[in-house]
Amino acid sequence: MSDTTPTIGSVGVIGAGQMGNGIAHVAAQAGLTAIMIDVNPEALDKARATIAKNMERQVSKGTLEASARDAALARISTGTDMAMLGTCDIVIEAATEREEVKKSIFRSLCPHLKVEAILATNTSSIPITRLAAVTDRPARFIGMHFMNPVPVMKLVEIIRGIATDDATYQAVDALALRMGKTTATSEDFPGFIVNRILMPMINEAVYTLHEGVGDVASIDTGMKLGTNQPMGPLELADFIGLDTCLSIMQVLHEGMGDSKYRPCPLLVKHVEAGWLGRKTGRGFYDYSGEKPRPTR
Ligand code: NAD
Repeated sequence: MSDTTPTIGSVGVIGAGQMGNGIAHVAAQAGLTAIMIDVNPEALDKARATIAKNMERQVSKGTLEASARDAALARISTGTDMAMLGTCDIVIEAATEREEVKKSIFRSLCPHLKVEAILATNTSSIPITRLAAVTDRPARFIGMHFMNPVPVMKLVEIIRGIATDDATYQAVDALALRMGKTTATSEDFPGFIVNRILMPMINEAVYTLHEGVGDVASIDTGMKLGTNQPMGPLELADFIGLDTCLSIMQVLHEGMGDSKYRPCPLLVKHVEAGWLGRKTGRGFYDYSGEKPRPTR
C-alpha cells in the first residue's frame, strides 16, 4: 500500500442474496462495519439468519470465538434505504446479475456517497468499464468478484476497468487480504479470468451429456476423479445456477463473437424449463429426495 491508498473501515453491501450476505459476513468478521441494503426486507432477514447460522458453524468447528462472533454480528446493520451508505468508505454491489438493475442502483446510489468512497461490483460477467461509465467516479470504480460461498472460498478476482486508478486498486487489494482472501487480477474482458475458463468447461460438459457421450454420473465422476476437482462440472453448474451459467456463456459468446462459446441447447432448454439447479430443486440432478439423483 502506498501513502495515498485510502484505508477502509466501513463497507456497504447492496443486495442481500447468497453473495451479499457472504460479503457482509467476511467484512464484519475482519473487524469492519458492514451495512447491507436490499429492496426486499425479507431478503435482509434471511441474510441475517444465514450469517448467524454460518458463524455458528465456525464457532462449533473452533475456527471462531463465540465473543468474536457476537462482536462481528453487532457490526452488521441492514436496511432498505441507500442513504444509509453515505458514511461508507467502499460500497460493494452484489444485486441481481442484470445490467439495467445494476446501472439504476449506481445512478441512485452515487449522490449519497462520500466523494472519496470507492464503488465496487461483484458482477460475474458485466463489463466493469460499462458500469463505471454511469457513475460519477469511474477512477474509483472496480470489480471485486467474490466466489460462492464467500466465507469458504479463498479467491477474490479483482477487475480493473479502463479508468480505474492505482490507489483504488491498491485499497481493494488490501481490503481483500484483510478479509482473509487471496487475490488474482484480471483485465476487463468478457468473463474475466475465472469464468472465461470455467464456463466453457461447464458448457462442454453439458454438450457431452447432450450428445450422449456419457451420463451425468459418468461425466461428474470422470472429471472429479480424473482431474482432481472437488465437484463435477454438472454438479457445480447446479450449485452456481443454470440461469447464471447461461447468462455468462451469452456474455462470452456476444463479447468475443466466436462460435466456440455458443451455449449448449440443452443448457438453454433447462433454463427455459425453470430447471435452474439446486435453487429450484432440479437441474442436472433432482434434489427432491434425500440424496441428489442424476436426471439422465
Ligand atoms: P441473489 O439472487 O441471491 O441475490 C440478489 C439480491 O439482490 C436479492 O436479494 C435481491 O432482492 C437484491 N436486489 C435486486 N435488485 C436490487 C436493488 N435495486 N437494490 C438492492 N437490492 C436489490 O444473487 P447472488 O447469487 O447473490 O448474485 C449477486 C451478484 O453476485 C450477481 O452480480 C452475480 O453475478 C454475482 N456472483 C454470483 C455468484 C454465484 O455463484 N451465485 C458468484 C460470484 C458472483
